[in-house]
Amino acid sequence: MPDSIDILAIAAHRDDVEQTCGGTLRKMAQLGHKTAILDLTRGEMGTRGTMEDRAREAEDARQILRVSWRKALDIPDGRVENTFENRTKVAAVIRELRPRVLILPYWQARHPDHYTAGILGYEAAFVAGLVKLDLGFPAHRPFKIIYASLYADVRPTFVVDITDQFEVRLQSLLAYRSQYSDQASGSGLFPREAEIRDKLAAMAGFYGQLAGVKYAEPFVQKEVGLVDDLLTIPVQSI
Ligand SMILES: [Zn+2]
Repeated sequence: MPDSIDILAIAAHRDDVEQTCGGTLRKMAQLGHKTAILDLTRGEMGTRGTMEDRAREAEDARQILRVSWRKALDIPDGRVENTFENRTKVAAVIRELRPRVLILPYWQARHPDHYTAGILGYEAAFVAGLVKLDLGFPAHRPFKIIYASLYADVRPTFVVDITDQFEVRLQSLLAYRSQYSDQASGSGLFPREAEIRDKLAAMAGFYGQLAGVKYAEPFVQKEVGLVDDLLTIPVQSI
């Protein structure tokens, strides 16, 4: 068990976090923060590769992103449901790791597992703070919940500059060889690498441009921002 985790990212599937906030996690590790990833499912329904392949690949990606802790729950792949049983499974992890910041999938998405994971994660964070509920660890509620999105149709509250982490984040995604290498060729090379790089660069470039940097990852927070000193607000207006 880790001492304590600063930032926990929860996602439905292995390789989701790599696509939404992998650069941010790597950047936070570089800043000295301890990061963790909880994948809700193990990928048994995936068309390509086995559950064991994906476990190995997730571990490789964890190391590439310098994430301190990673685990996958046993919630059925393709059937992420917001049940009390699942909320307590996630809440137990939140209590074990005691993160200050929780990153969840944005509450709107194409894949039901993604948006359900966002709602499930939010309610699990609430459950984790219920003092009288015994889950084997002391009650804990994250201070901050922010949302990460896979798709480019979300207006972010803020973005994180990942210009320096972009290449490493790409490598963490390519670690999922069973998903992203060309199975037919069997060459072990990545014919799709250029395609994946272009897609990630377009997305990260779009969000970067919103804040005047090359590449960024978008986040949404529900709360209104609080400012003490108007002279310290980042990002130039005109
Ligand atoms: Zn996914």
